[in-house]
Amino acid sequence: MQASVSIKDLSLNFGHVKVLEHLDLDIAQGEFIVLLGPSGCGKSTLLNCIAGLLDVSDGQIFINGKNVTWEEPKDRGIGMVFQSYALYPQMSVERNLSFGLRVSGMPKAEIDQRVKRAAEILQIEPLLQRKPANLSGGQRQRVAIGRALVRDVDVFLFDEPLSNLDAKLRSDLRVEIKRLHQRLKNTMIYVTHDQIEALTLADRIAIMKNGVIQQLADPHTIYNKPVNLYVAGFIGSPS
Ligand code: ADP
Ligand code: MG
Repeated sequence: MQASVSIKDLSLNFGHVKVLEHLDLDIAQGEFIVLLGPSGCGKSTLLNCIAGLLDVSDGQIFINGKNVTWEEPKDRGIGMVFQSYALYPQMSVERNLSFGLRVSGMPKAEIDQRVKRAAEILQIEPLLQRKPANLSGGQRQRVAIGRALVRDVDVFLFDEPLSNLDAKLRSDLRVEIKRLHQRLKNTMIYVTHDQIEALTLADRIAIMKNGVIQQLADPHTIYNKPVNLYVAGFIGSPS
């Protein structure tokens, strides 16, 4: 399933520090949005608010028109993939994939079917009995994506999922994430500071600076018609 995500006048302060300021963002069902900006501009904070891992200071978050601002993370239909994988080291890949489903009490036959499908999509079937320590970085990140996939989430959130990988793996996984989106047509919100990832993956890019979106547009427009020097400098210079 796909979901629209709508962020209305969202602000978040850590103490006196304003990290997000009156931020508005409307994301269509099935859209691939990239949040692009330098370290510290509030990208992870925004994702964490959408996921429900941080309480907002002000404003609302809607998923498919429903106000989820104060809903539990598990009730939001969201799957998050982190830079650091966050796999359970003592569990096999199969267990890592199925753990959340087991906890929810889903019947074993359905769990097995979902794990099999995710493993097939991500091409990790031969790895199911291995432990995370015996996987490469790229394989670990596939498993991390698989954990969101088995839950059949409406919205995928990615927080710099490729930044721990070397250049070759990054470009391979970029292609895979793009294929995944074309196959599943989920709504995806993808955080990066890498302009190549943004330009190749996004339907629309939101360029952020100090907790504010400077420009939101398709890659072609961002690249050719930046609204200000900040956007031009950010998309034009190597990060
Ligand atoms: P990004 O993901 O774009 O690099 P973050 O969202 O992680 O940026 O951080 C945005 C700002 O909020 C930074 O200035 C950071 O230092 C600050 N920040 C992030 N998390 C916390 C926290 N738990 N407490 C205080 N300040 C924080
Ligand atoms: Mg971050």
